[in-house]
Formats: sequence, structure tokens, C-alpha cells
Amino acid sequence: MSKKITVLGSTGSIGRQSLEVIAACGMEAVALAANSSVKLMEEQARTFRPSIVALADERAAADLRVRLADTNVHVLSGLEGVLEAATISSADTAIAALVGMVGLRPTLASIREGKRVCLANKETLVCAGPLVLEEAKDYGAKVYPVDSEHSALFQCLEANRDRGEVKRLILTCSGGPFYGKKREELAGITVEDALKHPNWSMGAKITVDSATLMNKGLEVIEAMHLYRMPVEKISVVIHRESIIHSLVEYCDNAMLAQLGAPDMRLPIQYALTYPKRIPGPSTPLDLWNCGPLTFGTPDLEAFPCLALALEAAKAGGTAGAILNGANEAAVGQFLAGKIGFLDIPVRVEKALAQVRAVQNPTMRDILDADKAAREIVR
Ligand code: MG
Repeated sequence: MSKKITVLGSTGSIGRQSLEVIAACGMEAVALAANSSVKLMEEQARTFRPSIVALADERAAADLRVRLADTNVHVLSGLEGVLEAATISSADTAIAALVGMVGLRPTLASIREGKRVCLANKETLVCAGPLVLEEAKDYGAKVYPVDSEHSALFQCLEANRDRGEVKRLILTCSGGPFYGKKREELAGITVEDALKHPNWSMGAKITVDSATLMNKGLEVIEAMHLYRMPVEKISVVIHRESIIHSLVEYCDNAMLAQLGAPDMRLPIQYALTYPKRIPGPSTPLDLWNCGPLTFGTPDLEAFPCLALALEAAKAGGTAGAILNGANEAAVGQFLAGKIGFLDIPVRVEKALAQVRAVQNPTMRDILDADKAAREIVR
């Protein structure tokens, strides 16, 4: 399938798997952007021969420029470099896989070029969902979800004729590495413990978010915006095996589910090929040997981050940006060994209580809310 793609966040977990899909499906990576991983970016540039590569970190970019001097790959730096990769005219598609709020501007830039945007950066929708989707409409850009749960919902909604027939969206949640533990047992959790996810291999930030269940909370907000559903019509079910990626319940009580091996290459590929399906590199699901599928209720007392996210979803406006900014800052402190695992929700709760949420926010309001939340955590 011929497609020209810019991969924003190419050295991260989703970015690397995106490049596997691109190679396996005969697509072309015309631009790559990342934060600072020089060695991997050099490798990717030599393998995929994009016309430009960008590193946000200036020093890393200078190093990369030297390393790629023998090629005709153009090396750019800083946010401007990343924005240039996001808007490169030769790409019809952008994979937005930068992690965190820093992904917002490049994602918006790709949208404003009217590209197909395969969205893996959930923070963009959590912070600025209505604004981003409105811009997509204005600029004729199609946004397709890469997050496995949202891809599952997207696939289960396809058969539907009228959104009014949907009773609710049900997001599955693996429960993370600490499923079944009580709040007291979570006090001594180390960074190393938190980085061991049972089913998915992901970057550090999202792995910690999966351990606190904040990831599921962010995904509820993401689903709320993507599918224009009130938070009351979105439920979370614990499903330890990560085989069912999410479900849609219809008004007649029919439930549709999408199943697959826990392998991000499938949702990445579907965001690229929709409405077509083509053979690809993802692992097939061996239903005969995958064992029983189990379901349960999330423990909001042991994992208050999910409850806080649901609260922020209800509050609306800039509450999502406050939640996300506080969480990004708190997870950063946890990963740096400065605060404990249980301090993450405490910090987020404090930010939500102290920063006033603004309804129908402008981009300025959203950036201010993000900054204020981070300052409170610090
Ligand atoms: Mg997910």
C-alpha cells in the first residue's frame, strides 16, 4: 500500500512499531522526528532514508548532523524542526506518537495541513480534545485512533448506523502490575516495580500511568472526545488478559468486541489503512490456546488516579489539562525517585482542587492550566 508518512516520536515504542508496519506494508517514511535519541535516529534514518529527520534537543541534533553527514538526509532541530517534520508536504499521513503535552503543537500542525493523523498521543485529546477535533473538521484532516482501546471502539462502532443506538462504550483495562493489591500494599512500590507491565511493553511514562490506572482515566477522556459520548456512558472493566481491546454495548443489549493479541502493530496499521484491511506484521490471536478471559471491577480506592480522571472528565473544560499536567509532572518526580507511588494521586488531587477549571477554553487557557498544574506539583 503506497503511503507517505511522517512519524512524530519515531524512537519511542509506538514510533518503532509504526516503522515496522511501514516497512512490512510497503509504505514510505518521508520524515522522522523525536526528542533526543541520537543513535536510534541515525539507524532509522539509514534504514528508511527519509528526506528530513528532526530532534527536539539541539545538542542531540548537532551530533546527529555529524553522524549523517555522508547521507542526503536533512537534519533539523528544536521545536521548529519537529514542526517542519509534522507539516512536510510530501507526507499524506502523520503518526502522532510523541509522549505528553509536547505532542500537542506538532499534532495540531499536521492537522492544519489536512493530513490523515494517526493519533497515539492521548494527552493531546485529554488536554484539548474539542479544540483539536474542531480544527480537524475545519482543515479537512481525518483523525484515527492508534490507542488499542480506541481502535477497538472505532472498529466496533463501524457496524453501527446511528450513534443514538449506542448505550455505552466499555474500555478494557489490564489492571496493571499491581492489580489485586490494596492501597496499604502500594506504599513501598519502587520505580522498577512500576515499570513491569504484565502484557504490554511501552515507554516509561505510560507504563507508570498503567500502574496507577491513570492511563485508563486518560483513555476515558480520550474516548469521550473522540466519540462524543458523555462520561456517564463510558465504563471501565478489568480484563487481565488484554485480548478484548474494548467493547460497545448497544441499546438492544448487543455487545460488540474487538479481539486480538496484545500487539500495537494492529491498531497502528488499521489507523493507516482504514477503511481497508491488509495483511500485516501483527501477531495473530491463537484463540485455542489463549486460555480463559476474565472480567472484574476496578478498585477505585486502591487506584484513586482513575477516580480523579473520571472527576476531571465530569468537570470538563480545562480540568483535563490540569489532570494531565499534574500527572505528567508527578510521574516525572516519581521516575526521578523524588516522590513515592502513592504521592502521584495526592499531587494530582491537589492540582485539581487548587487550579480553577475554565469552561469552553481557548488554547491559551489550556496552556495556562497545564502550567499552573505543573507548578503546584513542583
Ligand atoms: Mg491504551
